Amino acid sequence: MFWTAAIRDIIDILIVAYVFYRLILLIKGTRAVELLKGLVVLFITALVSDWLGFTTISWILRNVMTFLVVALPIVFQPELRRALEHLGRGRFFNPGAVDRERTSREIASASFTLSEKGWGGIIVIERETGLKDYIEEGTMLDSEISANLLVGLFSPQNPLHDGAVIISNGRIKAASCVLPLAETSKMKGPVGTRHRAGIGITEHSDALALVISEETGTVSLIDSGRMRRFFDQDSLKEKLEKEMKRVLDEKNIFRQWRVNV
Ligand code: ATP
Ligand code: MG
Repeated sequence: MFWTAAIRDIIDILIVAYVFYRLILLIKGTRAVELLKGLVVLFITALVSDWLGFTTISWILRNVMTFLVVALPIVFQPELRRALEHLGRGRFFNPGAVDRERTSREIASASFTLSEKGWGGIIVIERETGLKDYIEEGTMLDSEISANLLVGLFSPQNPLHDGAVIISNGRIKAASCVLPLAETSKMKGPVGTRHRAGIGITEHSDALALVISEETGTVSLIDSGRMRRFFDQDSLKEKLEKEMKRVLDEKNIFRQWRVNV
């Protein structure tokens, strides 16, 4: 009897701890963190003033806190909505999950738009090997992925159009990144620098590189130094989705256990 009660308590505590851990992961990096700190300060001040017998301060703080309980859901309506949506989509237990379908769709669409416009581009998709060094040397963006933004980045008028765009975890991390060039000695015919950079990065890491040629409009996907040409958007999207899934699934097993609060 005692043991079943104890086990029940342990399970109870573990579940609460896990839910709190996930909640912290969810609000990490949002403005809710600053607010939470503010609330802690208020709470401690209220305790101290209670303890010291400062009745007026205590009264004010108590009323402010009552007000906040009502005001918070209103101020944080967008965040709360996002959290509930996460819960609905089953992402609550895996906040790092990337929307691969959307990412592949936007990248494939941007590639063929660039090809039609006759603009060159190079998009690198990070997989397991971190590309932090290249990201930091470029112009950091960290923006949500969209085909329009990708096309805009490679517009010849854009100051960031030179160099590569790097995608990581479904976000556009940086533009104008300089990649390592592959050695020409290993190549059969003459290969331009954009293609050499694409081959180079896939030899230095397990990333995928997508090169859109300014000269010929060809769209090529490079994986481990091997280049394959794509003729239509749908097959490129399918291939990207499949290639991203392979590595991300392995990565998520570890992400579940990584404590980075
Ligand atoms: P294209 O078929 O589009 O002409 P290419 O393979 O012939 O490509 P270049 O014509 O030399 O290559 O393309 C030059 C462009 O490649 C540069 O404007 C720059 O944006 C990009 N590029 C060159 N070197 C690098 C590098 N090390 N890292 C990233 N991007 C690079
Ligand atoms: Mg060229």
